[in-house]
Amino acid sequence: MKAGRKPPLERLIELERLSGADFLPLSKSALRIVAPIPKAAPALIVPPKQAPAKPAPETMPPEFAKFRSEVLECRKCGLCETRTQVVFGVGTLKAPVVFVGEAPGADEDEQGEPFVGRAGQLLTRSLLKIGVKREQVYIANILKCRPPDNRTPRPEEMAACLPYLRTQLKWIDPKAVCAMGNIAVQALLGTTVGISRLRGKYHDFQGRKLFATFHPAYVLRNMSQLALFEADLRTVCGEAGLAVR
Ligand code: URA
Ligand code: SF4
Repeated sequence: MKAGRKPPLERLIELERLSGADFLPLSKSALRIVAPIPKAAPALIVPPKQAPAKPAPETMPPEFAKFRSEVLECRKCGLCETRTQVVFGVGTLKAPVVFVGEAPGADEDEQGEPFVGRAGQLLTRSLLKIGVKREQVYIANILKCRPPDNRTPRPEEMAACLPYLRTQLKWIDPKAVCAMGNIAVQALLGTTVGISRLRGKYHDFQGRKLFATFHPAYVLRNMSQLALFEADLRTVCGEAGLAVR
């Protein structure tokens, strides 16, 4: 365009003004001329990535976190000498069911999480089969430290460690505690009655509903009991309000 010459639209406006018009009726096509032409294509709006399926990990109340760190340092019984680490427990504090086993084994002692070895995998799989994820419940043990060679817990070890489980239950306040296996059931109920007579039913543990079932390690050795074990999981989880199938 030559210097001094105005662009056609401005010239047109000036002419109109000179002839007395104080507004210009703009047609849609005129608007298209006036509208600034974007210099570059607008940046593509990238939709945010789908949020991960897992919910954000819940933050522990500071008081509970403090309690947990104290337990992780515990030296109240002889097992502190042989353990690799304390296996505190895992899951949500909103759990309607708390599963309680006997004591950590080699895998749990190594990983610091209860029920991650072969027995634990059976528990996890059976829960999934009935539609429950580990993250929806809480999993712990009577003893937080592994007894050497997986020997049976001693009464004095259980007496030293049980207050920790009680504190965990106080925080979680579940609808039911599901004790798995002879040791856990008998320790909590203070009975010598065998698991096969106690399982599949509710009992009382200090005012809480305690449901008894087999230990998954026992089910591993006696797969004929798997259906009963899974029926028990369905009962306790379903009656505590979890969606089961
Ligand atoms: N057996 C248990 O009793 N607890 C575990 O954590 C693993 C195996
Ligand atoms: Fe402490 Fe329990 Fe471990 Fe014994 S088993 S050292 S009481 S956490």
